[in-house]
Amino acid sequence: MLLAEVGVRCVQCGTSFVSRQLPTYIDIGYRNSELRQEYRGYCPMMEQYAIVTCPSCGRADWSTAFPPAQSTPVLAQAGGSAHMQYRQAALAKERDAASVNSYQAAIFYTHAAWCADDSKAFPQAREYRRLAVESYKRSLTDSTCPQNLRGETEYLIGELMRRSGDLEGAREHFRMCIGRLSARFAFMARKLMRLCEGGSTESIPFEADAAQEGGASQVYRTPAQPVAAPGPKAGGPPGFQPANSASGMPSAAPSVSAQGLPAVSPPPAVLPPGTGSNPPSKGPPGANKGGPPKTGGPPTTPPPGAPPLS
Ligand SMILES: [Zn+2]
Repeated sequence: MLLAEVGVRCVQCGTSFVSRQLPTYIDIGYRNSELRQEYRGYCPMMEQYAIVTCPSCGRADWSTAFPPAQSTPVLAQAGGSAHMQYRQAALAKERDAASVNSYQAAIFYTHAAWCADDSKAFPQAREYRRLAVESYKRSLTDSTCPQNLRGETEYLIGELMRRSGDLEGAREHFRMCIGRLSARFAFMARKLMRLCEGGSTESIPFEADAAQEGGASQVYRTPAQPVAAPGPKAGGPPGFQPANSASGMPSAAPSVSAQGLPAVSPPPAVLPPGTGSNPPSKGPPGANKGGPPKTGGPPTTPPPGAPPLS
């Protein structure tokens, strides 16, 4: 995977450092039952490049939350596994009075679980899912969950419970909330309840189409392979922000939610070179939710995968 080195600055301590980010983000259009990008076992695993940790103060956040550096930084971003960085970011959303937000903490924990899966750190992944469930539940009562995403959040709570191994809890949760879910989430919830009865904690594709097309099986296209944009060369100028950096992040589940559902039709396989944004139809869901990251360079497109940072 081609990465661009981008000079950024930490708004908490002022330290400038070089981060490594994906210059191009490709949305393959399919989601699994946890709303992570995935197509029949093919998972781009771009989430690990959407999180950045300051090497000086340890602040962890979306890469878009770090504005471009003014000069050439000599420091490199802090190392460490992506799931631990997401965990750190989640803790900040739970504990830092200035930025406490249960919903965003849940999104970070969910990303931590996915990255832990990618690293085969399965015990940690289970724990992150349990923490995501707690945070999502809290977000429904403390009003940090956006009103238009409450149904999706209730669905995700059940699915994260199932994936973490709490099969009975997941069934109970779906039974309680299925009447409030939209047709597509309710369709998936029924499938997941059957998986619970069968003792399965495996992820499955999000087959939203089946609910609306009379059960016809969804036709999948060949997943697009991520292609690096001709843009930035690695080691680009300090402070360089890829034009499409906003969309350079992995798509977060939340982003899908903007429309309430995972994208059912695959977006164009590859972003046309030179275009920095996704087609409007695919607008990241997060777009409507929140403001752009503090970087000030409001991405026109929400960072994929990146939960809208509001
Ligand atoms: Zn810092």
